[in-house]
Amino acid sequence: MNYYSLHKKAPHTTFEDAVVRGLAPDKGLYFPEEITALPKSFFDTIENKSNTEIAFEAIKQFVGDDIPEHDLKQIVEDTLCFDFPVVTLNDSISTLELFHGPTMAFKDVGARFMARCLGYFNKNNSRKVTVLVATSGDTGGAVANGFLGVKGVDVVILYPSGKVSDIQEKQLTTLGQNITALEVDGVFDDCQDMVKRAFVDEELTSHMQLTSANSINIARWLPQLFYFMFTYKQLKSTYNDITFSVPSGNFGNICAGMVAQKLGLPISHFIASNNANNVVTNYLNTEEYSPKTSVQTISNAMDVGNPSNFIRIQELYNSDFETLKSNLSSYSFSDAETREALLEIYSTYNYIADPHGAVGYLGAKAHLQDRPDEHVVFLETAHPTKFLDVVEDVIETKVALPEQIQSVIDKEKISIKISDYESFKELLLQR
Ligand SMILES: *Cc1c(COP(=O)(O)O)cnc(C)c1O
Repeated sequence: MNYYSLHKKAPHTTFEDAVVRGLAPDKGLYFPEEITALPKSFFDTIENKSNTEIAFEAIKQFVGDDIPEHDLKQIVEDTLCFDFPVVTLNDSISTLELFHGPTMAFKDVGARFMARCLGYFNKNNSRKVTVLVATSGDTGGAVANGFLGVKGVDVVILYPSGKVSDIQEKQLTTLGQNITALEVDGVFDDCQDMVKRAFVDEELTSHMQLTSANSINIARWLPQLFYFMFTYKQLKSTYNDITFSVPSGNFGNICAGMVAQKLGLPISHFIASNNANNVVTNYLNTEEYSPKTSVQTISNAMDVGNPSNFIRIQELYNSDFETLKSNLSSYSFSDAETREALLEIYSTYNYIADPHGAVGYLGAKAHLQDRPDEHVVFLETAHPTKFLDVVEDVIETKVALPEQIQSVIDKEKISIKISDYESFKELLLQR
């Protein structure tokens, strides 16, 4: 399988090269040349397959010959070492819990898969790849944990000082080994800008192979399509018409769901559920795509003003607005509505959601007003204790900390403070 750049000004390349580079030389996102549907029998018998079997069959064509089947199976198995339960709230709404991984963020799957692919590619050479990640909270922890100890890979995480939760900070600053945490005197956008500048800084890129572990990287993005298949496996005998409500920020997750649909997974419809950062909601209403500066909300992993994967969605639909609109709806919700939803989910179903899941729940409810016969699954993308302040305040109940979180709380934080691009660059050059 080869990949091309969506800017169309770079050579087509292999899976391996696309993963190592992250972004194409023309700064475009990579996209698979072909997406071949799986046979109908695959979906007819999906309930008899293990998650590893499903994921292996689904991802195989995207990896091609770059990783032998035996090794790819092992990578998939190591990636998926936890559960993906669907919890049904009522006849119309279920939630898929994506927070059972080591950092309790749904990004664990993509990070673990990408790390293992890079580890495989580096097995027989002395290449060194430096992964740069800017994080507003959850990505950093998932990437740090997924890449810990992987041969030939150095991870440098930039996070805004004082602007991630205590738990998130512990998850990214306590691992050591090949993981370095940089505490930036600034906001998330400053971290992101430094990373973007590094990728185009020739003095740096001629010294070292830099890559990204954000969802622009195909090995972080594509494995997310597994979630939609695991849901279908669990619900197909009960519901015919399954729609997904995906709490969206950079639109990587929902776009991977659309790839699953291209592979033949019967999905009725997609809902992009947004917080106040509503570029895509506006686009579907007006056909005009106007990126904006992000605004801060209580579902902060979705505070994105210019979603990087939206261009991949356009490509999947050949930029045909009407076809896209018939398969995708989008709604935007305020923080006040999100808090009300958290309380409603708790008082009606005795279920504790996190603010991102609550936005997904609101999208599901809005959609069901028009299409009451569908069954909508909203994705729970983070464990509620990662947003403890908001959740405990709204439901007025203490929430117990799960073991994965408990285990990092008492560890010692180690970070390096930086304040500008020059100090960041110097630090990279010294490595
Ligand atoms: C990253 C993230 C999202 C948004 O996912 P995208 O693929 O960027 O749309 C939603 N919820 C949580 C908790 C996240 O960490």
